[in-house]
Amino acid sequence: MANLTGRGGKPLGWRKIRSLKQLESSLLQRRRIDETSGCWLWLGARNSAGYGSVGYDGRVQSVHRLAAILWLNFDGDSTKDICHHCDNPPCFNPSHLYIGDNYTNTIDRKQRGRARYLRGEENGNAHLSFVDVQLIRKALELGTSQHQLASLFGVAQGTIWGIAHEKHWAA
Ligand SMILES: [Zn+2]
Repeated sequence: MANLTGRGGKPLGWRKIRSLKQLESSLLQRRRIDETSGCWLWLGARNSAGYGSVGYDGRVQSVHRLAAILWLNFDGDSTKDICHHCDNPPCFNPSHLYIGDNYTNTIDRKQRGRARYLRGEENGNAHLSFVDVQLIRKALELGTSQHQLASLFGVAQGTIWGIAHEKHWAA
């Protein structure tokens, strides 16, 4: 179901709504769902980086960005990147996409640091700092899965669940 409000939560005009509904159905008609990964693979044209591309609103646009506009409440005029959890450029499954910003960049750096740490310590249950917890909360808000965060931070998924539900980590 397309998001029917524009920037600032203002309702869109009927012309825009009709165009978004058409966009939604034309994207869904050109996907193949990969049963293993759950990726929505774009069956139309791809650009040189492997991202799906399609003409919409008078210009060629990235399919994964349009998916984020339709289903993740993403502002299409934003300069932020839409990133893939699944590292699969032609995928436009909204649950595999997230809006990149400073927080996720920090997590990417964290991931690299954590990978080194885990190799050294062979430790699957690293201790989370206050800053880690803030980052995890923000990433959860941005739609990162609990499973992925558990593996990024090297903790049990139940720990992430606890943070999501604010059990043990009162700020
Ligand atoms: Zn995917």
